[in-house]
Amino acid sequence: MKKIQMVDLQSQYYKIKPDVDNAMLSVMQSAAFINGPEVKSFQQELETYLDVPHIIPCGNGTDALQIALMALDLKEGDEVITADFTFAATVEVIHLLKLKAVLVDVDYDTFTIDTEKLKAAITPKTKAIIPVHLFGQCAPMEEILKIAKTHNLYVIEDNAQAIGADYTFSDGSVKKSGTMGTIGTTSFFPSKNLGCYGDGGAIFTHDDHLAHKIRGIVNHGMYERYYHDEVGVNSRLDSLQATVLRKKLPLLDSYNEARRKAADFYDEALSGHPQILIPKRAENSTHVFHQYTLRILNGKRNALRDFLAEKEIPAMIYYPVALRKQKAYYQESNDEDFKNTDQLLEEVISLPMHTELDDEQLKYISDAVLEFMNMES
Ligand SMILES: *Cc1c(COP(=O)(O)O)cnc(C)c1O
Repeated sequence: MKKIQMVDLQSQYYKIKPDVDNAMLSVMQSAAFINGPEVKSFQQELETYLDVPHIIPCGNGTDALQIALMALDLKEGDEVITADFTFAATVEVIHLLKLKAVLVDVDYDTFTIDTEKLKAAITPKTKAIIPVHLFGQCAPMEEILKIAKTHNLYVIEDNAQAIGADYTFSDGSVKKSGTMGTIGTTSFFPSKNLGCYGDGGAIFTHDDHLAHKIRGIVNHGMYERYYHDEVGVNSRLDSLQATVLRKKLPLLDSYNEARRKAADFYDEALSGHPQILIPKRAENSTHVFHQYTLRILNGKRNALRDFLAEKEIPAMIYYPVALRKQKAYYQESNDEDFKNTDQLLEEVISLPMHTELDDEQLKYISDAVLEFMNMES
């Protein structure tokens, strides 16, 4: 059996190696390393795929979030609501911009922001909501957009983990994750569902005015060369990364399908066990399984991880600490308001998930999980 990895980028690369190698070589020969034609082509191809008029590539997914917030002209102390259970980048950029992060609990089954808690957190200072499409499926966007409209709030979708997912509204219309709010952001970090071979990110919007503004912000606030209208940043997708992404974008749906097949295998193998909850698939969103995350109900999640490690099966705890309790972002809170997050921190474990898992590996992993759980119950 091939050695099991949390994410197997090498096997994925070898399948497209000649194509990618040639494309990278021609970028090097062209020497158009920054803002070259490859970046423009990738931008256009992604706009077509996502059906969104404006994509602004940038340096990484964290920059994408920061730049999205910068484009909204918020004032110091304005409140931005997001989930307490997510990757830290979301909250980090709120702090960096001297806005106030208002953290709320997530839904126990889908890991995405709890809309009742979200409503309760709105104050006259609230300006924006950042739903995170965690682990590969969309937050309840119809409800979130409704709340945002009622209270006149911006919505920034953190789509770093769910690119390619589809969300279906109650009128039957379908939209791609990241294209429903005011602005969407994503990351092309190598292990994401659409990953490059270094850092990369992008910002999406339907709004012409915001798109123009964001194009300036990513480039030192310049709208005309060497005239700086506002304080911006330097955040670019380079041509080598863009060329890799151009090779991988046409494969994204098949990559997501491979992840879904692996998830189906795990679901089938693990769903019957009384102490294991398999990830719930939300009704309105397809799931692209950035992570396959179980909830372990017997209180022995850490022992399971150690047991798997002995069998050379990597597994990860995403995430071990609530953001409200992190040293950098610490805030006083009432634990009663964060019951789901706090329970998930103790129960979640993410199994290996990538495009290259085969049935032999999936069976070995599932059998090991069941072996431990049956031994311990
Ligand atoms: C990966 C990730 C980011 C940050 O992306 P980088 O490209 O690593 O900066 C932001 N939000 C979420 C939810 C992520 O998973």
